[in-house]
Amino acid sequence: MEDSVVVDLLNTTPVVDGRTVDRLADDAAADAWLTAHGGGTGGAGERAALRSVRRDLQAVVRGQRPATILNAALADVGQHPVIDGDGLRWDLYAPPERALPARIVLAWAALSARMPGRLRPCANDECDLFLLDRSRSNTARWCSMTTCGNRLKARRHQARRTDA
Ligand SMILES: [Zn+2]
Repeated sequence: MEDSVVVDLLNTTPVVDGRTVDRLADDAAADAWLTAHGGGTGGAGERAALRSVRRDLQAVVRGQRPATILNAALADVGQHPVIDGDGLRWDLYAPPERALPARIVLAWAALSARMPGRLRPCANDECDLFLLDRSRSNTARWCSMTTCGNRLKARRHQARRTDA
């Protein structure tokens, strides 16, 4: 699973016009998101699992909760080895409605091991989005330079002018 799926899920609660919008609150929207990411056949159970994994992942990435809360999404999930033409692979088994949420938690764990500290909340207090910093310098602070980055720079510039 690609790293972008983790960021996509984290970023389904953007602030729009000063209010947090939940892009997965609507069942049809949640099903569309699930389908676009390889799930979408698990009904209400899958939607509930997805929303709860999102809530937990957001809290973990914000440093509000320990990562161990994610174990809830991995209960009854396992991997078994399969030999095929290309060699060994590990297939996931999980209750069907929890397979995609579990794969997202595993993708987050792999991402955190490979790029520690690179997944983080946007530094703009008025923004609820997250970013994956792929820069060499590891100094990215904003979900987007064109929105949050420039907005904060403009505000600082304005503050300096007011001070002067
Ligand atoms: Zn932002």
